[in-house]
Amino acid sequence: MTLDIRHLDRLQPYLCQEIPEVMPARYVQLVIVRQLESHAIFTTEGDELTTRKVRAGRVDSQVIPRLMMSNRKVLATERRLGKETLRALGLFPETADTCYLGKQCGRCIDCILCGFAALKGLGNMNSRVLTDEGWSLCARSGFNTDNVTFNAINERTRGTGQALGDTDMILPGTIFVSVTTLKGATANELLYWLYCSHFTRRYGADASRIGKMRNHIVGVVGSYVEALSSLDLCQRFYDAVSDATDPESLKAKADEMVVAALSDIKLNGYVHLTHTETDEVLTDFLVRYGKGDGLRAWLVQANAEAEAYAARKSKKVKGEEDTEQPAEEAEVDGSEGDGEDVANDEA
Ligand SMILES: [Zn+2]
Repeated sequence: MTLDIRHLDRLQPYLCQEIPEVMPARYVQLVIVRQLESHAIFTTEGDELTTRKVRAGRVDSQVIPRLMMSNRKVLATERRLGKETLRALGLFPETADTCYLGKQCGRCIDCILCGFAALKGLGNMNSRVLTDEGWSLCARSGFNTDNVTFNAINERTRGTGQALGDTDMILPGTIFVSVTTLKGATANELLYWLYCSHFTRRYGADASRIGKMRNHIVGVVGSYVEALSSLDLCQRFYDAVSDATDPESLKAKADEMVVAALSDIKLNGYVHLTHTETDEVLTDFLVRYGKGDGLRAWLVQANAEAEAYAARKSKKVKGEEDTEQPAEEAEVDGSEGDGEDVANDEA
């Protein structure tokens, strides 16, 4: 399947032809503006909304408290959509307990791209989706957070519990800026992640009731270094449009902000897809492969790429496991078991 998608060929120098055995410095970064469409709770530990004191802008030097979306939770949420899609389209059986957190298969596109902990015969895999914290455009204030009171319902008596709870929530409309990086990814993996980033719609705690979010991918940058960071871009947006109430104002500034960030680190060799071009990539992809049989056919092919890689890796890992056994028993120095620690993780 040749992918007929505008601008994708321009990113080729920063994508891999096949899933790499050893990591090359090929980076593709997605610039994402997220806007809450409901209340949300983003915490890392405890009930407190995660807030960090950081500089307001690149120009504006005051220090402000910003709301933060933790990167690990964003990754976990977005990869869940990918796996649910694999299941819905029959690439995983819906009836069997195949590949979920705690029991990953180590062979599918999600496992191979986003990583998995040690599995027998498959070793382990680091994530090639490198996430960065998401930051609120504006300072935390009474405009974007509120303390919401609720009655605790006693499930047995159905009565309102005596304990009135209250919790801090982030308010609808709040805008976040974040950057996601793919390292050593193939074109299919990039499209897979674009799909997951574009369509993931709920984040944070209590996500069956709140946490509704709309993601706008406003630019893509390919280069040999990890050029962009979430906080830096967020600060640039703040200097330009600190009073923005909709993503459109950020979209209008996105190209300028990204180029300024790249020039600031003196990066010359890169490909930058503007927000219009990024939108064309997404449009072409979704028109051709975004639904029904088209989506399934594309996903089957993308997943086959991962399975082929897993089969190659499994052969190699099994070979290493077989040769490591006698060395371990004899406690010979200088065995080959460095780095991945495959044999030990299996115990
Ligand atoms: Zn899997």
